[in-house]
Amino acid sequence: MIHSLSFDIEEHFQVAAFDCPARRRHWEVLQSRVEKSTDTILTLLDSANVKATMFILGWVAERHADMVKRIADAGHEIACHGYSHELISVQNPATFREDVRCAKKILEDITGQAVLGYRAPTFSITKETTWALPILVEEGFLYDSSIVPAMHDSYGIPDASPSLHSLDTSAGMLWEVPPSTCQLGWTRIPVGGGGYFRLFPYSIFRWFLTKVEREGHPLVMYFHPWELDPEQPKMNGSLLSKFRHYVNLQKTQKRMTWLLQDFRFSPIRETLPSFSPSLDPQSSSGQRHEEIESCASLPSHSDSANNYTPK
Ligand SMILES: [Zn+2]
Repeated sequence: MIHSLSFDIEEHFQVAAFDCPARRRHWEVLQSRVEKSTDTILTLLDSANVKATMFILGWVAERHADMVKRIADAGHEIACHGYSHELISVQNPATFREDVRCAKKILEDITGQAVLGYRAPTFSITKETTWALPILVEEGFLYDSSIVPAMHDSYGIPDASPSLHSLDTSAGMLWEVPPSTCQLGWTRIPVGGGGYFRLFPYSIFRWFLTKVEREGHPLVMYFHPWELDPEQPKMNGSLLSKFRHYVNLQKTQKRMTWLLQDFRFSPIRETLPSFSPSLDPQSSSGQRHEEIESCASLPSHSDSANNYTPK
């Protein structure tokens, strides 16, 4: 069975759990670590001869175009993680459209390749934000990978399908590629990566993954560059946020090596029934590619937290 491997390419200081207006104001001056960690990922993938999907934040792509080119030149799929890393729940349809349109254009201008996939910051397409799905179709996306079919305190649609499936939106069809979950008794738990991958011993995590595989579901795994960076500066936040972010960072690289040995992975787009390698930005989107003057008008603050003390 061929599984999907993906990475959300963002800075360590952009994660939603630590988001607040004060930290956002410091984005430009905080230490950038994304290139070094992403290069670690590229080396790991190259050693295992694995290609993956990289959901890259537009803000990061704008500042690290050479890194985006390196990723694309290595044969990985370039996909979109939005521009500003605002949760969709604090956006409205107009700002969301501007955010994804801007990020998609930045990525396509750098690589000359179609961007087909989207993943929301912190999987923030929930029952309250499904209005975002037809906008993705209108903006030329072929698939979304933002709906986690499990119960979680900050994301998830528990009764959503756990398999790759098509969604009929008011603007047309969109493939939904849910991050992996595992049925345990009456509940489903997320096992696609992130904190869960670092929290459980690898042997237990592997048992979850083989259970999902035995049930006939290809895996959809996700990771972040900062998960391979145990030396990153520590941020202030709630105890739970700090635990989730920092637990076992030093173990990620070794475990990822094992994961790449134990399962076969490909980019997400290659698992889609309607994927054609001949797609290009014009033919894939068939939508508007209007000139975007600037992304400066995009939202740059969030009210989601207020516990940051600049270091
Ligand atoms: Zn993210």
